[in-house]
Amino acid sequence: MPIRRLPDHVINRIAAGEVVERPASVVKELVENALDAGAASIDIVTAGGGKSLIRVADDGTGMRRDELELAVSRHCTSKLPGEALDDVATLGFRGEALASIGAVARVTIQSRHAEEEHAWSLEVDAGRLGPPAPASRATGTQVEVRDLFFATPARLKFLRSDRAEANAVADTVRRLALAHPDVRFALAGSDRMPLDYPPQQGEGARRRRAADVIGAAFVENSMPIAAEREGVTLTGLAGLPTFNRANSLQQFLFVNRRPLRDPLLSGALRAAYADVLARDRFPVVTLFLGLEPTEFDVNVHPAKLEVRFRDPGLVRGLIIGAIRDALAEHGARAAPSVGMAARDALRPAAAPSPRRSDATWGSWAAPSPAPASPQGFGEPAQAGFDTIDRPSADARATLAEPDQAALDQPLGAARAQLHANYIVAQTHDGLVIVDQHAAHERIVYERLKAGLHGKALARQILLIPEVVELPRDDVDRLAARADELKDVGLVVEPFGPGAVAVTETPAMLGELDAKALIRDIADDLAEWDASTRLAERLDHVAATMACYGSVRAGRRLRPEEMDALLREMEATPQSGQCNHGRPTYVELKLADVERLFGRR
Ligand code: ADP
Ligand code: MG
Repeated sequence: MPIRRLPDHVINRIAAGEVVERPASVVKELVENALDAGAASIDIVTAGGGKSLIRVADDGTGMRRDELELAVSRHCTSKLPGEALDDVATLGFRGEALASIGAVARVTIQSRHAEEEHAWSLEVDAGRLGPPAPASRATGTQVEVRDLFFATPARLKFLRSDRAEANAVADTVRRLALAHPDVRFALAGSDRMPLDYPPQQGEGARRRRAADVIGAAFVENSMPIAAEREGVTLTGLAGLPTFNRANSLQQFLFVNRRPLRDPLLSGALRAAYADVLARDRFPVVTLFLGLEPTEFDVNVHPAKLEVRFRDPGLVRGLIIGAIRDALAEHGARAAPSVGMAARDALRPAAAPSPRRSDATWGSWAAPSPAPASPQGFGEPAQAGFDTIDRPSADARATLAEPDQAALDQPLGAARAQLHANYIVAQTHDGLVIVDQHAAHERIVYERLKAGLHGKALARQILLIPEVVELPRDDVDRLAARADELKDVGLVVEPFGPGAVAVTETPAMLGELDAKALIRDIADDLAEWDASTRLAERLDHVAATMACYGSVRAGRRLRPEEMDALLREMEATPQSGQCNHGRPTYVELKLADVERLFGRR
């Protein structure tokens, strides 16, 4: 389609605002242009965090001489055939990017259209356009941007360090690369180690690109998502809760292959994982929404980073539903590589590398002519063992034969409790280590949630009500929720204007610090804004309570109690992780243990 200047009445409807804020936004616009031009391979180079140099070269359709001149004029685009802004299928449509970049930097564009004899080159220096000159290059386009914002020092001042800007550039490239696995992306230049993502075709292309961009560990520790609701599709990978991060930088969300940072989408993600992750931890995801272009509006944000959905409730429901279903299906599975990671962590400490020379090996493994002690541990000659904790005094392996029926269960038969928190269980083909505190927290949480859904929970009456002083707002919020709190076994009554009295607590939580619990719950209630659904807030309250009532690390369990905990874990939804996203157990297969000892 030819490039044309948009009619004024269309221009006036385009969301106003600055397109070029920082080097990463330049890279985003140039790479999007390359993708719109059908490129199969895109090379990006930056220096000085993109402030001194950004160069993007593609092998797309290229531009003819006259198109080149139009391309750098404001509001000129080849991508908006009609006048409708609600049916945009390309990444670009505003016709502003090249003009905006040309206005604030020194830009050289070289482009060759397949049907042209040779390429043409054009220079723009802070808005001053030079004449097109013949040039030489293969079909495609290269845009070189030097000295971004040199003419507007005030804006240069707002940029962050070279490193921070270079990171933002890499993040932008990674997002675009995830959405276009069939295109090769290379990022190089003095700002970083070079990246090169080879093109991926056919089945599993997106998965392989995700492994290249985010890492193989993510792909292994994720759940496939494929859902549809009323013509809107959601596909991609959602990380297991145990594979979490301290920020949301590893959340890659797309609408029709357009990378977004949309508050609606991040809110839906947070809600979907609310049950299985602490508030300050973030799941890693790559999720692609697919919907008709008429079902959302991209014309709300100058950098096209947010969209407006025609039916936000549908999109939110689809995301939450699809992820919750996946979590329910995979819930008992902690990160499958946790066991392997533990094994790898053990290896360097416990096993000398077989690649060592014989001499080293010999001196390590055969310490002395000293007689071998039958126990092995505690030999004075074995200085190396000083760094290893001796078996703690509370190790109490059950000497009886393991219960055969329990061996058949997924978590096996409990054999010992170590360090007053770790239950070691035996299965037919391996061993399981359970973090009893984390496991109990999950069980208590699921029971409390059942209480919220109609299964009344036993309460215990406090002999002396606990009076908790709180700001007026908190008292009001707690009073307003008194009925629901009662459903989870917590009875709270107003006690004057600035305090509440706790009269009953859930029996299963045992003795607890009611003051601290009430303060935390008040915080929870205050933090959620009016738009958060009641059910989500109450689930969160249940999670807070579960933390208070769980078997703390340090409590010794009798063998029957340990087995009961394992059986209850097996019967509990999402039992593979506590509600902060830490695993509740790890499993080592016998084969792994044998490898650890070089038996395989
Ligand atoms: P938009 O992408 O919104 O149309 P731009 O200012 O980014 O606006 O680009 C203006 C026009 O220049 C595009 O519509 C396209 O026709 C042309 N163009 C820009 N970059 C390229 C490229 N890499 N390959 C081919 N054509 C391009
Ligand atoms: Mg563009």
